[in-house]
Amino acid sequence: MYWEKQLETIPREELSLLQAERLQKTIINAQKTSFYRRLFARNNIDPEKIKSPEDLKVIPPTTKADLREGFPFDFLAVPLEEVIRLHSSSGTTGTPTVIYYTASDLDRWTNQVARSLYAVGMRKNDVFQNMMSYGLFTGGLGMHYGAERLGALTIPIGAGNSKRQIWFLKFFKSTAIHIIPSYALLLAQLIKAEGLDPHQDFNIRIMLLGAEPHSEETRLRIEEIYGAKAYNSYGLSEVNGPGVAFECVFQEGMHLWEDYYILEILNPQTLSPTPLGEVGEIVLTTIYRDATPLIRYRTGDLAFLLEEPCPCGRTHQRISRIQGRTDDMFIFRGVNIFPMQIEKVLMSNPEVGNNYRIILEREDYRDKMMVEVEIKPELFSGDLQKLARLKERIQSELHSEILVTPEVVLVEPGSIPTSEGKIQRVIDRRPL
Ligand code: ADP
Ligand code: ZN
Repeated sequence: MYWEKQLETIPREELSLLQAERLQKTIINAQKTSFYRRLFARNNIDPEKIKSPEDLKVIPPTTKADLREGFPFDFLAVPLEEVIRLHSSSGTTGTPTVIYYTASDLDRWTNQVARSLYAVGMRKNDVFQNMMSYGLFTGGLGMHYGAERLGALTIPIGAGNSKRQIWFLKFFKSTAIHIIPSYALLLAQLIKAEGLDPHQDFNIRIMLLGAEPHSEETRLRIEEIYGAKAYNSYGLSEVNGPGVAFECVFQEGMHLWEDYYILEILNPQTLSPTPLGEVGEIVLTTIYRDATPLIRYRTGDLAFLLEEPCPCGRTHQRISRIQGRTDDMFIFRGVNIFPMQIEKVLMSNPEVGNNYRIILEREDYRDKMMVEVEIKPELFSGDLQKLARLKERIQSELHSEILVTPEVVLVEPGSIPTSEGKIQRVIDRRPL
């Protein structure tokens, strides 16, 4: 049931002690970086006084912009010859950032991933096909080493090349795959186009969905298409990569491994803690790595804490699925909207296909929102009234969710551009 029972089910009081001890080491270590030396001096912070997570409040959070400005070495806490690898964020939102790893950092991260995979039931007899890009992106190598440590047969196939993916799935009877959710939907279509059924003709039992926000409705859809369990896997390169937080078999919220991080959920405007159960920004302090310590790192990812202890017995707090990013929220006629709200509505309609996009434009000083939605091919067989009714229904459902009514355009499957990597859902053509 557990990869390392003692640590995964550690009583909360013991966990607090462990966190305090690791935090103190982290603060000492952070003083070796020029960024934190400067930050502490500028804010009159006495590192000796940072003894437990509560004391962190006095330290200003670190942002992605800080990491970028600190390029290349301002965050490095060890001599460069101790570093054996670097990773870099995929740069979805700007110039990349670099994170360094010592041998022991990599060993701990590998353990963290193995622990996560074990929690969703992966074992040494699994055949694991890792469909994430290898290279600077952490989703490839990060998950790879965790799966190997578990003893699974690990196929480093990487992202894309769907024909080859399908061939490997079939030939090696892969039982577990790591895949971006939007690509899982696209791949299913390609599998069907080859006359195969993603459920009947394959052996996939575990899917790890990560790297981009997706709704519960999308998960259910993916599970149904593949006849497999799909688990939410959260991570970001700045604080290691995959394995930061992971669902267990109960599939309700992701355990954030608190022996590796101190977790805060803060209001992105005021930076004060959000009330329990309310959405806020995930802010993480790394307490179990040496080369690149990060203190109160603002992830930009929005989630809320789940209150109840998990029936699986793990004591590490659970966070909700990611509700969006502080920077993918868009403002439309004064209303804050997250693409995820729109996705939730679309994916709960069985007529809706697997792809959509949101286009924002401005005409005569007025903002317009168009939601292009692929619908199932059989609906295009001619009954125009039926289509009109469907469009109206989706529009009104969207209105109840986001309080404005976008123009919904129903399109044929395959007409919206797809991507083998992270997908861009919002096209904002409004002039600034
Ligand atoms: P970036 O995309 O910021 O360049 P990464 O490649 O490290 O950097 O991606 C990390 C980001 O991907 C996270 O901050 C988060 O926004 C998103 N992400 C990762 N896993 C998930 C997940 N399971 N659900 C939602 N979003 C995720
Ligand atoms: Zn659990």
